Amino acid sequence: MAIVPDDKNWTWVLERECPECGFDSSATAARDVPGLLRANAAAWPAVLQRADVAVRPDDATWSALEYSAHVRDVFRIFRVRFALMLDEDDPEFANWDQDATAIEERYNEQNPATVSAELTEAAEALADALEAVPDDAWERRGYRGDGSAFTVDTLARYFIHDPVHHLHDVRG
Ligand SMILES: [Zn+2]
Repeated sequence: MAIVPDDKNWTWVLERECPECGFDSSATAARDVPGLLRANAAAWPAVLQRADVAVRPDDATWSALEYSAHVRDVFRIFRVRFALMLDEDDPEFANWDQDATAIEERYNEQNPATVSAELTEAAEALADALEAVPDDAWERRGYRGDGSAFTVDTLARYFIHDPVHHLHDVRG
């Protein structure tokens, strides 16, 4: 059995606390996201030093290395999305199939030390970008391919749940 593709619509996380990880994006201020992001990113290097980093707990669950590589790519992709929203009017985001990417990019064969450095760098770049969002830009809009509408504010609060949830997944 391979990993089951996750095609759930996660936008509900903007409305209530996540029952799995306990994070509540609805109670989070977008201005607090850079700090939350830096704190989250600081926990991943220790996860990536684990001896069993590439071991999947079971056939349906990513290894810590796969989760880490995914989180690194989430940081990179959301930086692109925020830049798009700030630079263009009502952009549509390119689709990103995270499960296909994990396979194509061979997440579980990547070097943990490299992933660690890349994750840290991507987190810093995204945190810097979010800290630089002008006060009058938080309501600028962007659209996902499925039609879901976001503002910079809601996308920031939606985004931060992902690395928080995955750190919970790997018990980091
Ligand atoms: Zn969660």
